[in-house]
Amino acid sequence: MDKRRILILGGTAEARDLAARLAGRADLAVTLSLAGRTLDPAPQPVPVRSGGFGGVEGLAAYLDEQAVDLVIDATHPFARQISMNAQAASAATGVPLLRLERLGWDETQGDRWTRVASVAEAVTALGEDPRRVFLAIGRQEAKAFDAAPQHRYLVRSVDPVDPPLEAPEVEYVLDRGPFALEAEIALLREHRIDVIVSKNSGGEATYGKIVAARILGLPVVLVERAAADDGHRAGTVEDAMRLLDHLLGSRKRGV
Ligand code: NAP
Repeated sequence: MDKRRILILGGTAEARDLAARLAGRADLAVTLSLAGRTLDPAPQPVPVRSGGFGGVEGLAAYLDEQAVDLVIDATHPFARQISMNAQAASAATGVPLLRLERLGWDETQGDRWTRVASVAEAVTALGEDPRRVFLAIGRQEAKAFDAAPQHRYLVRSVDPVDPPLEAPEVEYVLDRGPFALEAEIALLREHRIDVIVSKNSGGEATYGKIVAARILGLPVVLVERAAADDGHRAGTVEDAMRLLDHLLGSRKRGV
């Protein structure tokens, strides 16, 4: 039996979970694509390809060469470029695209959120007066906080922030989720944090700091996502499982 080929654009827990759910299916050949940024990536349940494709053209060429039947964009809600590239490459090649994007967190009683539209707005939202900031937005955009060196920062990321921040008082924690609530509370207390900056990533793995902030009564500056695009969308791995067979069925081999 000819296997249908699925390319999962990954770098998230959802991508790994979906790959694990599909790995046992004899009718599918699943490849997981990683950007290749993380020095020590987590093990994956299906074959992995790593590194950028070379923009829309490179991704479209890959889809053609590998005779991919379905692309599942399971990248992080804040990885905008690769998602835009996937849309354009899908349009150019006719290979169907399914977006798996976990839902964002909703504000609940006790939360003290300031919602902002970008990391640059988060910098401004911290205000002029020096504060002790827990920066939990990942390594790539941390440098934006060079614009506010009056604050003291605790920066957590999977890989080191390089070059480091310019502010005179910065501490770094290298760690990879999931993060337990008790440990998050302990971290915030130990560093006497008085405000947290986070992306509205959604999911369980990094929600601990949001709950910890609620329990400790701390404010959170929350960077929201850009508006969702049209197209086939799934909010959970289960939804994606339901939709993918339908999408594979609607594309006959070789069409
Ligand atoms: P991005 O800005 O959207 O993408 C930049 C470029 O990186 C893309 O144009 C593409 O290069 C390459 N790329 C990104 N994801 C790829 C993938 N899964 N496979 C192959 N190439 C990929 O992405 P980012 O925000 O830097 O995130 C990079 C990776 O980290 C993503 O896989 C994402 O899921 C994961 N991640 C991101 C965040 C976040 O907050 N942004 C958080 C957790 C995990 P080419 O144009 O050369 O193809």
